[in-house]
Amino acid sequence: MTGVDGGMVWWGWGAAEAHTPLPAGVRSLLEQVLGTACRDTPPVGTDALRLPVGSLADDAHAALVGVLGPAWVRDDRASLVRHCRGRSTTDLLRLRAGDAMDAPDAVVLPASHDEVHAVLAVCGRHRLAVVPFGGGTSVVGGLVAVRAGFAGVIALDVTRMNRLVSVDAKSQIVAVEPGVRGPALAAGLATHGFTLGHLPQSWEYATVGGFAATRSSGQASAGHGRFDSMVVGVRVATPVGTWELGRAPASAAGPDLRELVLGSEGAFGVITQVRLRVRPRPEATHYEGWRLTDFTGAADVLRTLAQRDLLPTVVRLSDEVETAAGLAGGSPVTADPVTGGAVTADPVPGGGCHLITGYEGRAGWVAARRSEVGELLRAAGAVALGRDIGARWLRDRFRGPYLRDALLDVGMFAETLETAGFWSTLPGLYTGVRDAIVAALAVQDAPGVVMCHISHVYPTGASLYFTVVYPQPGEPVASWGRVKAAATRAVLDAGGTITHHHAVGTDHQPWLAAEIGDIGMAVLRSVKDTLDPAGILNPGILLR
Ligand SMILES: Cc1cc2nc3c(=O)[nH]c(=O)nc-3n(C[C@H](O)[C@H](O)[C@H](O)COP(=O)(O)OP(=O)(O)OC[C@H]3O[C@@H](n4cnc5c(N)ncnc54)[C@H](O)[C@@H]3O)c2cc1C
Repeated sequence: MTGVDGGMVWWGWGAAEAHTPLPAGVRSLLEQVLGTACRDTPPVGTDALRLPVGSLADDAHAALVGVLGPAWVRDDRASLVRHCRGRSTTDLLRLRAGDAMDAPDAVVLPASHDEVHAVLAVCGRHRLAVVPFGGGTSVVGGLVAVRAGFAGVIALDVTRMNRLVSVDAKSQIVAVEPGVRGPALAAGLATHGFTLGHLPQSWEYATVGGFAATRSSGQASAGHGRFDSMVVGVRVATPVGTWELGRAPASAAGPDLRELVLGSEGAFGVITQVRLRVRPRPEATHYEGWRLTDFTGAADVLRTLAQRDLLPTVVRLSDEVETAAGLAGGSPVTADPVTGGAVTADPVPGGGCHLITGYEGRAGWVAARRSEVGELLRAAGAVALGRDIGARWLRDRFRGPYLRDALLDVGMFAETLETAGFWSTLPGLYTGVRDAIVAALAVQDAPGVVMCHISHVYPTGASLYFTVVYPQPGEPVASWGRVKAAATRAVLDAGGTITHHHAVGTDHQPWLAAEIGDIGMAVLRSVKDTLDPAGILNPGILLR
């Protein structure tokens, strides 16, 4: 369904031709607001990239070639660099500065469940660490295995396993291989009259296996749910054998063990097939915008919608700063996670907070739900902004990562972090995290902009998605580490989760015990020891 490398540039996001420089207006506004001149900070040339010096031992390499054939065991520089880390801003900044020292020693591309098993057997025998690799879009350090104690590290790229395996139209269930990317899945399902409705901002490159392994959540989660809620079954290749789960729409056969696979981040096994609940393609869609006066009040309106079972398919509420940034920098609600022209902290008069609502489904449902939601929003003082703003959001909703690259090119730093909390704790979580970020930037003398939006809403609470933009300091990776640590401490203090959908990886791992407790850590450890007794899968990720 898709090419194996996906055409991603090594220094950023997406294909090279999809990039454009930062618009001049945004550039000058940034300089004005942050009081710092933009400067050209291009990535180093490919020749300057530093990779680890080691390579696989000849017998290990030969064994892998014996299993997959020479074309599918790669150790050329381009393949190794493409599989070096994920796509967080700090991942990119390291690469752009020439540091590819976390690259694997080889990349293997199995084409089937049995080949994955055979690869795992070779890696067990030769003591090689295995990093399951989907789209490589992790933003939490989920693709950097600990090397110590291993004879080498391989990236196990699943993107050759990219078939839509079967469609059970009667049950509305499809079976999909793990390497299918978002657009290919959507196209494949469309030919059968179905849609999945999972649209994370990384959709163009992230894979089905990655969605499952990280408990991803997409832009339409209000209507379609998180990815984990769409999974009815999984097939996993573990070092001790094949594990198949999910044989009925619901079951009381003990705890739901699928939950041990969802969010397992490659540490328990390689997901080789996912069975997903799909739904008919929508008959009608309608996207529009609203303005509400303040973020806390507007969040409460979302609470009412969720608790009255009146949610649209998509909701996205920007706080005052994100709204103002969008108004100043161009398109308000395209100020998506990573960047989006976040250039001012001064609320625009009358700007308030922008809300996007989107409806997808049967025509009758779209009309009725839109009318009920509109009534409730108007009663809460919201002002209708019309369809153009919704159309613009739809058009630009996957552009954020490209804008981030443009910002990195001019010496700016832009990164995101996310959490979630119950409604009763959400206001404190919002101010606590925002204040912690502002304080951590102030300590570093960094003039920055902090903005937030809500786009995943539940009857019991919501997620908060923060974007931080500031001029790149001398050591941006260390600087962000301090900001992120302060924000995470604030999350825990305010009763939020360390991650709503980005997963644990290595970045959040130090805080996992604070969230799930020592007993929780021991349970995860015992699962790991059962499924991966030699500990070859993603060492250091999820569990230390
Ligand atoms: C610009 C940008 C925007 C993003 N937007 C969103 C968003 O809106 N919502 C969201 O939820 N996330 C988002 N993310 C995070 C990321 O895209 C998700 O975590 C995604 O699910 C990862 O999928 P992937 O295929 O790229 O996995 P990878 O990055 O390749 O892997 C992620 C983790 O899963 C493991 N893994 C991958 N495939 C398998 C497999 N088949 N079996 C077992 N383990 C496996 C890896 O070892 C790793 O630990 C975004 C990231 C970026 C860079």
